[in-house]
Amino acid sequence: MALIEMTDLVKHYKQGRTTVRALDGVSLGIDAGEFVSVVGRSGSGKTTMLDLCGLLMRPTSGRIRIEGVDTAQLSDGRRAELRGNRIGFVFQEYNLLPSLNVLENVELPLRYTGDRALGRRRSVELLEAVGLSDKIRARADELSGGQQQRVAIARALVNRPALLLADEPTGALDTETASEFVSLLRNLNEGEGLTVMIVTHDLELAAQTDRIIRLRDGHVIEDARQLQWEREEVAV
Ligand code: ADP
Ligand code: MG
Repeated sequence: MALIEMTDLVKHYKQGRTTVRALDGVSLGIDAGEFVSVVGRSGSGKTTMLDLCGLLMRPTSGRIRIEGVDTAQLSDGRRAELRGNRIGFVFQEYNLLPSLNVLENVELPLRYTGDRALGRRRSVELLEAVGLSDKIRARADELSGGQQQRVAIARALVNRPALLLADEPTGALDTETASEFVSLLRNLNEGEGLTVMIVTHDLELAAQTDRIIRLRDGHVIEDARQLQWEREEVAV
């Protein structure tokens, strides 16, 4: 069973009298444990596809199943619950609360759920994993861009999601920091079995993932799995 199953997925946006066909019939399955990138030029439908998979909006037509559940049948409340429990998001803007410290930012998603003490332990572990143990009490706005991005990842993972969705997460990072970011995702993918779907227009970054899905004008025009030796060849 796929973690995400998209079937004939269509999203049209109405703009006055014209209709933008942002996604125009996409059928794709993403299995648990995959590390996938979605590429394509600006306007090709990448963000639309990611936001649909993240249940941030509903499709015009077609179906999205998550862990076998047809999400169209769910109420907005149940969709929010599924999103909160199973999906983590990292965006290009880190959306940290600048006046809170690093730990408080990571713990934000736990405010309404779960065990506080367990949540604290998970938060501290994640901050260690992203190399920020020494910044736990620093205010978010005192950190560099790369450090803020790592806080955003820790926050996205604090609820132990099955799926991490990242939309142009390295857009504001220099090459080296972007590459560290991908290694971090790779570690989480291999270590915790985290499924990762990352939208990017950086082909070097995409080359480090296991599967590249290429969109053009709302269609999938390529869906290629890469072998490990191919990834390594690109990395050297
Ligand atoms: P990408 O992330 O690949 O740049 P998007 O999914 O953001 O592509 O956009 C796909 C198409 O849909 C583009 O033509 C874009 O202008 C249009 N679009 C995206 N969001 C909206 C919206 N909220 N309203 C109208 N058009 C939109
Ligand atoms: Mg986009």
